[in-house]
Amino acid sequence: MKKHFVVCIALLVFVLLSIAPAQQKAAVTGSNAVVEPSLPYSPSLDVGSMDKTVDPCVDFYQYSCGGWQKKNPIPPDQVSWGVYGKLYQDNLNFLRGILEQAATAGSKRDTVTQEIGDFYAACMDEAAVEKLGAGALKPRLAAIEQLKSARDLAPVVARMQLDLGGAVLFSSGARQDPDNSEEQIAGVDQGGLGLPDRDYYTKDDAKSKETRERYVEHIQKIFELLGDQPGMAKQNAATVMRIETALATAAMTRVERRDPYKRKNKIKLADLQQMVPSFDWTAYFRTLKTPPFEILNVSPPSFFKELEARLKDEPVANLRTYLRFHLANGYSNYLSSAFVTENFEFYLKYLRGAKEMQPRWRRCVQFTDRDLGEALGQAYVRKVFSSDLKASTLDMVQRIEDAMAQRIGLLDWMSAETKEQALGKLHGIRNKIGYPEKWRDYSSVKIARNDFFGNVQRATEFERRRNFNKIGQPVDHGEWGMSPPTVNAYYNGQMNDINFPAGVLQPPLYDSRMDDAPNYGNTGGTIGHELTHGFDDQGAKFDAKGNLRDWWSKEDKQKFEDRTKCVADQYAQYVVVDDIHINSRLTLGEDVADLGGEILAYIAWQGATKGKDLKPVDGLTPEQRFFIGFAQWDCANNRPEDLRLRAMTDPHSPSKYRINGVVVNMPEFSSAFSCKAGQPMVNPAEKVCKVW
Ligand SMILES: [Zn+2]
Repeated sequence: MKKHFVVCIALLVFVLLSIAPAQQKAAVTGSNAVVEPSLPYSPSLDVGSMDKTVDPCVDFYQYSCGGWQKKNPIPPDQVSWGVYGKLYQDNLNFLRGILEQAATAGSKRDTVTQEIGDFYAACMDEAAVEKLGAGALKPRLAAIEQLKSARDLAPVVARMQLDLGGAVLFSSGARQDPDNSEEQIAGVDQGGLGLPDRDYYTKDDAKSKETRERYVEHIQKIFELLGDQPGMAKQNAATVMRIETALATAAMTRVERRDPYKRKNKIKLADLQQMVPSFDWTAYFRTLKTPPFEILNVSPPSFFKELEARLKDEPVANLRTYLRFHLANGYSNYLSSAFVTENFEFYLKYLRGAKEMQPRWRRCVQFTDRDLGEALGQAYVRKVFSSDLKASTLDMVQRIEDAMAQRIGLLDWMSAETKEQALGKLHGIRNKIGYPEKWRDYSSVKIARNDFFGNVQRATEFERRRNFNKIGQPVDHGEWGMSPPTVNAYYNGQMNDINFPAGVLQPPLYDSRMDDAPNYGNTGGTIGHELTHGFDDQGAKFDAKGNLRDWWSKEDKQKFEDRTKCVADQYAQYVVVDDIHINSRLTLGEDVADLGGEILAYIAWQGATKGKDLKPVDGLTPEQRFFIGFAQWDCANNRPEDLRLRAMTDPHSPSKYRINGVVVNMPEFSSAFSCKAGQPMVNPAEKVCKVW
């Protein structure tokens, strides 16, 4: 992924929570005038965003983005502010116009307009949400209260996972069989934590300790909001923290999870029942109504053994306490303002540094995009994504794939046999551009104009059941993992496809009014980035069909790893914030993709403009404009809190290093700016990293 890739299901809850709640005042103003949808224009190369007082050979990021950083302070309700984030906010504004029109359309509206219009209107009805308070949780809390033993737990946990869409105690879902990528199998995975990563529970430094203390206070507040007396709430918070810490300690780290072999552990359902006898797995899957199956993936076994220990050793009252917290915490964004505020205070203000809550309309647009993304996406695509745009971006994709084939052919470190396999994989990649061929049908989800909480619950359950129903079914290669308005892109190793939603193919990222140089530097680099993910330290473990299989010769694999180690060593030197360095074993795949992607984009750009007489513009040569276009995809300002969180959870390096870390390895860059050996933006010859 180009940005903020969310890989595991366990993370979904956190993503859900991290949408900032609104201030009441802003929400009221937000519900009035209908905004006519329009997207502002910013060019893919903006000279005004540069800082020409800086020497490009000393700090290329500052040279390209210094002006942008000055002009774009972080809005108080954001945790960071960059080109991608700003475009996404513009998209939200645009989608708001679409949604307000849909919400006020008359009775003759089509199904999609009804779905998105009523979902949004119900979300904006803050008075109704406030009046309900935590009332919507009542039947679910009652079910938890009735639990008499760990054996009764399964249907309640299954129900909570359907309702919340995330991991309670653990996570589960359908996944592609790592040995047969055409089939979907069942899987259960680690999860069940309220902090963003397992490392938060295990690290010993002062900041981690402080974060844990602050988290326990947050848990206590949630219990108080549910009506517990402070003394009892405090005791309950300690119980939740103790259970989560045990689960976290048994969970794999993010770096371990990068190895798909470590995530693979196919066993019989009967064996899982033996491993975790205190949990009634039959009742669990019966409640989920999964199709019948015998084999499932259990990842990692250590986690599920610890889960068994918790279920066996904890008095059932403690398990009820754990569930009660996760129910209220998971739903807090859809409850009354007291819950919304507490969620904001901890997850966005304390953990990520936001100063203010987002206005309610903005949250409601994001909820609609998340829950009905392919309904809202239809309206979005109609307005912003022409067939010309699709054709021109497809042409760019093809040129970059050709460049990759050319590079593979010329690699001096790869044997002919491995090259043949690599080319097979490259030619097997599916290119998905803009939006899905077939739209998801939400007509079975009841969307009521007066029931925001119910809408979220039903849409979440629809999505979870859609996922579980895949078990035993062939893989649908047309499916997308992102909605069309999303400003992001991804490569999926098991699908062997690259996916570019319409949202990421807009100015200033892809700018059809601009010439090739900045567009290839920017979107061309992103296409190359996604493509090389198929060949990074994770992607390289899957073959052309998406099966987990070693298709490399042993020697080639070693040479490949030596080359990626060069990248890991380089990035490990960079400081994120305070004394925290990049965890370059976590960011390795993305760093290698950033470097490879830009090299491919450069080759493709030269091919696309061959024989053309390219002229300087604004005093910048075509080569310089290519690189500035590249740097300006990621101009950003960050809060230290958010940088700290991302150093632990984000597989991408901070913006500055995603630019400077690439150009130091490209001789094409030094010659474009006439940089000299010994300058900061030129790696010494023996330290130049080159994988592709
Ligand atoms: Zn990526």
